[in-house]
Amino acid sequence: MESLKPLDMNSVMDIKFIKEMFSSIQARTSALCFQCTTCTNGCPVVLNFKPRPREELDLLPHQLMHAVRMGLKDLVLEARMLWACTECYNCTEGCPQGIEVCDVIYQLKNIAIKERKNLIPRGIRIFANALLDNGRTAEIMEWEREELELPELNGSGDDILKKLLTQMHLSEIINPKPKL
Ligand code: SF4
Ligand code: SF4
Repeated sequence: MESLKPLDMNSVMDIKFIKEMFSSIQARTSALCFQCTTCTNGCPVVLNFKPRPREELDLLPHQLMHAVRMGLKDLVLEARMLWACTECYNCTEGCPQGIEVCDVIYQLKNIAIKERKNLIPRGIRIFANALLDNGRTAEIMEWEREELELPELNGSGDDILKKLLTQMHLSEIINPKPKL
């Protein structure tokens, strides 16, 4: 009988990624996950994709936590769950182990934005660019304000937000560099 080859863990686990994740106090809590699936069962996004959430989201919240511990960087960064998450904190609040699930997801998004801008969904890029260009994502409808008998806006703060986001270099953060 042919013997199984030993698994080359270095080719599967990204140790640098584990170190990077575990440098944050919040992400380190994922080490305590015992896979009870409470986070997944209480997640509104998962619920929204029933009956086939796994097929639609790639990894469910409890699977994300496990994959982080295993250093499966490509798998977690490419999971659609990452970007579908609405950051509602239901998972964090319900976790019996006190795992900061939502903050772990934030950290994963930060890594993706730094290293894999191509993974940022188009919708998020459009949203961010609208904020940069207009200081808002939807137009103010003056007629709606009139109908609701709201007073005229005296300065909306759009310019302040635009300036702030420009100073934060949001465009460079969110948009991939143009190819030369
Ligand atoms: S609820 Fe907490 S312990 Fe249970 S699977 Fe989710 S992260 Fe792990
Ligand atoms: S924070 Fe994200 S993963 Fe957690 S319950 Fe809300 S949508 Fe689901």
